[in-house]
This record gives sequence, structure tokens and C-alpha cells, in this order.
Amino acid sequence: MTQVITEQINMEALKKAIDDVFYNQIDSTILYYLQSCVNCKACEAACPFTPTSLKYSPVNKAEVARQLYRYRFTVWGRTIGRAIGGSKKYLKLDEVETMVDYVWHCTNCGACMFVCPMGIDSGALIDLLRQVAFKAGLVPSIYKEIEQLEVSGKYWEVKAFRDAWEGLISKMKSQLGKDIPLDKKSSEVLFYASIYEALVYPDVLVKVAKILDTLKVDWTFMSKPLGIRPPLALILGDKEGAAEVMKRILDYFTEMSPKYVMLTSGGFEYPALRYMMHEIFEIKPKYEVVHVTELLAKWYEMKRFTIESTDELITWHDPCQLGRRGGVFEAPRVLMRALSKNFKELPSHGVNSICCSRGGGGCGLPTMIEDMAKLIGITIDEKSKKFLDSTIVPLINAGKLKVDEINKVKASEVLTGCPVCIESISFAVNYYHANTQVKHIVDLLADRIKKV
Ligand code: SF4
Ligand code: SF4
Repeated sequence: MTQVITEQINMEALKKAIDDVFYNQIDSTILYYLQSCVNCKACEAACPFTPTSLKYSPVNKAEVARQLYRYRFTVWGRTIGRAIGGSKKYLKLDEVETMVDYVWHCTNCGACMFVCPMGIDSGALIDLLRQVAFKAGLVPSIYKEIEQLEVSGKYWEVKAFRDAWEGLISKMKSQLGKDIPLDKKSSEVLFYASIYEALVYPDVLVKVAKILDTLKVDWTFMSKPLGIRPPLALILGDKEGAAEVMKRILDYFTEMSPKYVMLTSGGFEYPALRYMMHEIFEIKPKYEVVHVTELLAKWYEMKRFTIESTDELITWHDPCQLGRRGGVFEAPRVLMRALSKNFKELPSHGVNSICCSRGGGGCGLPTMIEDMAKLIGITIDEKSKKFLDSTIVPLINAGKLKVDEINKVKASEVLTGCPVCIESISFAVNYYHANTQVKHIVDLLADRIKKV
């Protein structure tokens, strides 16, 4: 798989990337992660990629970072470590291939951190390696092309994207039977969405608009999206590109100045736009970035509406970036308990929820990337195609864990709050012929909410 990416590697560029990116970012937190592993391997079972191979265990993937660290900073690394290969100043070609392979087998889901007795975030160490890979030009070309389109701002010149967005706005208007507010300043809710969401679940977005209208909320939508799925650069390890995109988003949010910015996606956008963006630019926002479940749960508890309840057996999948990385667990459960007297938890849930294998990285389903490339008009070359095909195996393996859990619960519907989780789990459900449906929670809520 990795030769697809590393075939024409520039070793000098890689050395520079290791010096500039890796060593420069070792702060006290990273230092703790690098120094504190007791090699107990407790993290192995938590990772969605270990069923594919033990080499993808969190501690093994992060070992590449530790080897680089030891070479320069520990006595052992400077002495015996250099002799027996436990430390490395840079990496040899085969080691680079291994590093790139590891990088694409981590979604930064955070599960390893919660089971580690030392609290080590291996995902953060692997993310550092991802940044090294990006700086050295070791990114699958299909991902890079889509990401650059977003960073450059030229995504709006893609006719298919404009059509999807304008089609979505028309659909909202026709369903509501009136014009919808666009780019309105100082509203209670700025309803935020990306092109990706307009493409994969326009009906969910229309239903959100209907809920806002039913509840007579002072809301606004965006006349133009702020990216394809911004900040895509973040999951490719392009820190500078991510900052550029986040600045655009920040400027728009600041100009609109709503009380809430509400997202329907609980993927990597959630922690990025809620926490990271404001930390990078050292801004204390006047608005609050929330997931749709947070706002609806809050309004439900304030008795702004009621929810018609049923006996249907339903379950909830916690998206990693909304839950583990974002801290949102209770709000969706308030809504789930209101939706059905028969809400059951999956065996692994909350901080221990098994990742769908795509959410915080991995860049979505191969078929989704292929569809996106077609819309943009990019031809996927043979190497990129091979790379995309190779990402299916982990999806099948991680999906089996999730499907086994769904089967144990016997839920007729799995609800969640992230478009990639919906796609990934639906893929596994279809692959293993499981008898359930995977939906965004808004899908069910929209028809059951009644204004008080
Ligand atoms: S669980 Fe923590 S301490 Fe144990 S091997 Fe994994 S990273 Fe190291
Ligand atoms: S962050 Fe998630 S995917 Fe990455 S190593 Fe840890 S458990 Fe595995």
C-alpha cells in the first residue's frame, strides 16, 4: 500500500520535515506521551485497526515517534539504542514506508488514550508523524488534490458543488414554503454545514431547517459553504493549510455573530471548530459552537418542545470526535431516551465506543472519494486507486466489531450524529447483511418534535 505513496520519496525533504515538524513540536504534553509508556499493550484491543494486524496497535505505530525522540534526547538512545536500532536520527526508505502505512491506519479516534493506564494519547503522536509525512510530500495524490481545492478556496468554482449547495437551499425553501434566512447577522442559530454534508445527506439538513422553523427559532443558513469538509487539511497533517481554512471560518462566524453555531456533523469538524480554531487564533468567541444534539437536548429540557415516544428498539453510536474528543455524551442520550422507551446502549459506548474506522481521519470511504473525484473532474490514477482499494480491509474488520455489537442489541435502528459514521457503519451493515438501519438522529427527531 505505502509504496504507492513513497515510490518517489525525497529523502532530504523527509529529513527536513523530521527536523522542522517533529522535533519542533515536542512540548511538555508530547514529552510525557513519549516518555511514559510502560509497554503494557492495554491499548491494543481499543484500536479499530488491530483486528487487521497487530502491527497497527497504537503503541507499535507510535514507536516510530519514540525512536526519533530517543536518538536525540535519551542516554539510552544515544548509546546502545543507536547500536541496536532502538533509536533513529532519521528514517531509512523501508522505515518511511512503514511510517506512512501506520499514519493511514489511525483515525485519531482517541480510544487508546482512555484505556492506557498512563493516559498516553498515541493518536497525538501518530498525528505528528502524519504532519511529517505531509511536509515530506508523502500524501496520496487524490487526497492532496481535494484538500488543496479546499485550502485555495477554489472549491466554489466546481459546478457540481455549487449545484449541490444551491439545490439544498431550494429544497429547504420548497419544504418550508418560504424563503430561508441567509447570512443573517446576530441570529440565535447559525446553522453550519459543509458541501460534503449537502452531498451525502441533504435530507437531514432539510429536516434540521424544518425543526428550526417549527420551533420558530431565529436562525440563518450560509449562502455559500466554507469548504468541502473544512478543515480537511487537518486530517492530512497540513497544519498551515488547516489554519488558513480555519481563519476563513472564524472570520465568517465572527461577522455573523450568532448566539450558537450549530453543526450536524460530530466528525473532526466538531473539535476543530469548537476548540482548536479558537485556541490557534487565541480568541474567546462570543458565540458557542454546538452539535445539533446539544442544542436540541438543551431546548427539550427547557420544555421548548416535546418528543413523541415509541417502543421501537433503538441504539446510539458515539462518534469519536463528538464523544471522546469533544466530550458530548449525555445530550444525545437525553434525546434517545425521549425518542423511545426501548433505547439500549451498545456493549461498547461512551468513552469506550469502538470507532467506525473513519471518523477522525482515513478520509472517508473509498467510494466516497471516488464519487468526489468524479464531481470535481479529477481522474484517479492507478496508484491512488490501489491506495483507496487498500483502505477497504480495515473498514471491513472494524465494521465487524460494530456489527457484532449491533446484532447483540438487536436494534432496528442505529442512530448517530456524524455523516462518516453513518457511511462507514452502513457499509459494514450491508457487507455483513445485518438487519438494521443507520440514520442521523435528526432523521427520527424531525417527525416527532412538537412545539409546546
Ligand atoms: S496502554 Fe499506554 S502504556 Fe500500555 S502500551 Fe499502550 S501506550 Fe504504552
Ligand atoms: S487514536 Fe484510535 S485509531 Fe489511532 S491508534 Fe489510537 S485507537 Fe488506534
